[in-house]
Amino acid sequence: MSVNEKLGKHLLRLSDKDNQICNFVNEQRSLISRRDSLNSDIESLNSQLVIKEAAQRDAASRQAIEEHRLKEEQAKIVERRKQIAMMSGAKVAKVMEREIEIATRSVQSLEEAMAKAMEDVESINGEITSIKEQIDQTQQSINTEVPQISARLSEIDNELKSVRSERDKSFAELEPRLQRLYKRVQGRYPGSPVAVASKSSCRSCFRALPQQTYNQIIAGYYLIQCPGCARLLVYLPENK
Ligand SMILES: [Zn+2]
Repeated sequence: MSVNEKLGKHLLRLSDKDNQICNFVNEQRSLISRRDSLNSDIESLNSQLVIKEAAQRDAASRQAIEEHRLKEEQAKIVERRKQIAMMSGAKVAKVMEREIEIATRSVQSLEEAMAKAMEDVESINGEITSIKEQIDQTQQSINTEVPQISARLSEIDNELKSVRSERDKSFAELEPRLQRLYKRVQGRYPGSPVAVASKSSCRSCFRALPQQTYNQIIAGYYLIQCPGCARLLVYLPENK
C-alpha cells in the first residue's frame, strides 16, 4: 500500500469514527427525549387526574344537593295532599292546589337539574376512566422502556468513550494543515467530512469533478475539497 493510499484510508477511517460518534450522539438524544416525554406524559396525566377527581367530587355533591331539593319538593306535595284530604273549605283547598301546582313545576325543573347533574357525573367518570387507562399504558411503557433506555444509554456512554479516544488518536496523527481543514469541513458535515472520489465524481454529492482536480486526487493530494459539497476528497483504487 502506498503512502497516499494509506493516508486516504486513514482519512476515511477517521470520518467513519466521526460518523459513529454522530450516530451514538443522535441515538443518545432520542433515547433521552423518549424518556423525558414518557415522564412528562405521566406527570401531566396525573395532574389531569387530580383536576378531574376534584371535578368529580363537585359534580357528585351537586347531584346530592339536587337530589335533596327534589325530595324536599316531592315531600312538600305529599304533605299538601294530606292537608287537602284532611281539610274542608274550598278556599283553603284551592290555595293548596295552587301550591301543589307550583311544587309540581318545581319538581319538573329539579328533575331536569338532577338528570343534568347525573350526566355530568357520568361524563366525568368516563373521562377519569380514560385518563386512568392512559396512565396505566404510560406506566407500562415506562416500566418496560425506561430500564432498556438506561441500559442502552450506559452502553452508548462506553461506546462513545472508546470511539472518541480512537478518533482523537487517529486525528492527532494527521499533519496540522490537514487537521485544520478536516475540522473546518467537519463543522459543516459532523459525521461525514470525507468523501470518496471515483469515476471522476464525488461519491457523496455526485458532482462531476474537473479532470485536473480528479488527477490531483489520484496523485494523492489530500487537501482538495469537492467543488460541490466541499468535503475532503479521497481516492481509493478499489473504488474505480
Ligand atoms: Zn461532493
